[in-house]
Amino acid sequence: MSTQKLLEKYSVAGPRYTSYPTAPYFHTGFSEADWAAALDAPSGGRDLSLYAHIPFCDSLCYYCGCNMVATRDYSKAAPYLAALNQEMARAAQWTDPARSVRQLHWGGGTPTYLHPDDIRRLMAMTRRHYNLTADAEISCEVDPRELTRAHLVALRESGFNRVSFGVQDMDPAVQQAVNRIQSEALIQQVLDWSRELGFASINLDLIVGLPKQTVASFNRTLEQVTAWAPDRLAVFGYAHVPWLKKHQNLIHQADLPNAVTRLGLQQAVNESLGAAGYVNIGLDHFARPDDELVRAQQNKTLWRNFQGYTTHKDCDILAFGASSISQTGDVYMQNEKNLKRYQERVAATGFAVERGVKLTRDDQIRRDAITRVMCDLELDFAAFGAQWRIDFSDYFSAALAQLQPLADDGLVEIAADRLSVTPTGRLFLRNIGMCFDAYLQAASASQPRYSRTA
Ligand code: SF4
Repeated sequence: MSTQKLLEKYSVAGPRYTSYPTAPYFHTGFSEADWAAALDAPSGGRDLSLYAHIPFCDSLCYYCGCNMVATRDYSKAAPYLAALNQEMARAAQWTDPARSVRQLHWGGGTPTYLHPDDIRRLMAMTRRHYNLTADAEISCEVDPRELTRAHLVALRESGFNRVSFGVQDMDPAVQQAVNRIQSEALIQQVLDWSRELGFASINLDLIVGLPKQTVASFNRTLEQVTAWAPDRLAVFGYAHVPWLKKHQNLIHQADLPNAVTRLGLQQAVNESLGAAGYVNIGLDHFARPDDELVRAQQNKTLWRNFQGYTTHKDCDILAFGASSISQTGDVYMQNEKNLKRYQERVAATGFAVERGVKLTRDDQIRRDAITRVMCDLELDFAAFGAQWRIDFSDYFSAALAQLQPLADDGLVEIAADRLSVTPTGRLFLRNIGMCFDAYLQAASASQPRYSRTA
């Protein structure tokens, strides 16, 4: 079957598995006491990965799916930073101070909405509460618009060594349709500054499925983007969910690429980035062959969490700020999403737990299986079974039966002792992961809706 036909066949609604159980299964019965207990539990030697959510943006991109507030009123920043400081301090009280931070990420919203002095202030607060290792991977999502060199200098001086720019699409008609105008000269400028300032890694984000996109126009974007030669690329599929994100109604439905164009866009991405020498790590992530993500995949030390693929396996994620999601060995916790209520709750108790979930042993086993498939692109039944003290083929008999049609279509190979994802199967990791998902199997039509897998 051609890749085009496979993309058509396997384009179904499905999760991205940045967590398992997935976020719709987090529940409000999870309390602040539960979160404190999770922080206080023995770490099992795991280090820390910190995340800070900066929810502010200067203007609204119509496709946005993030938890954000578009505002020009900078006076909102100071109380928010104070809440972040208080939340970090409270969590640090429950966390073993010997645990090191090996990774830190700021996302949003737009972290560089913060003025350079506030960037420095927030990082200084973080370092007061947590012990960042000298070689920590410290990254920031950056909106090229409104960015000054002084912002990047503040990031570098604060220890950031990675930046990720939202490029999305360079076509003027598409940019107009999504209210995000950024010229080639602007992107070139921010890349020049980043390289001059010595950021070790530059990632560019693109989006397929935006209004007014055509295969021809997106090929021009891909040509431009590969000429910029970023270290990594993430190419996300736009999820049009106006029933969840009201502002997406500003996008004219008629301007959205149809299913055939969308598949053509996906094909164009795979062909263009492949031809430019990028390796598809899995899902939407591409990296140069010498990138540490590619090396980690080869060494089977790649990991996957809310920030996507990472080389930092086995870190607990402590996430701060409105809507952010933390992860320990057997707990996920999401903070209050509403900015005002987040700040009020942190002022009252230091925490702002909205919901969470404590994983069962079955959850942990299935999460590990899904993660291994998505990161290693294979599963050794004996090794996995020994680790979890299960008979793999027996425990996952239903999953293996569900995987058989995917094997028939050449997406996976199932041998007596292992399951391997084929090169074509890399485009269908969500579909493969779904076979291991007990919640999905049990779900009825009324249960959570996910964006399409392709
Ligand atoms: S800059 Fe990012 S977070 Fe802000 S509105 Fe645009 S897409 Fe959303």
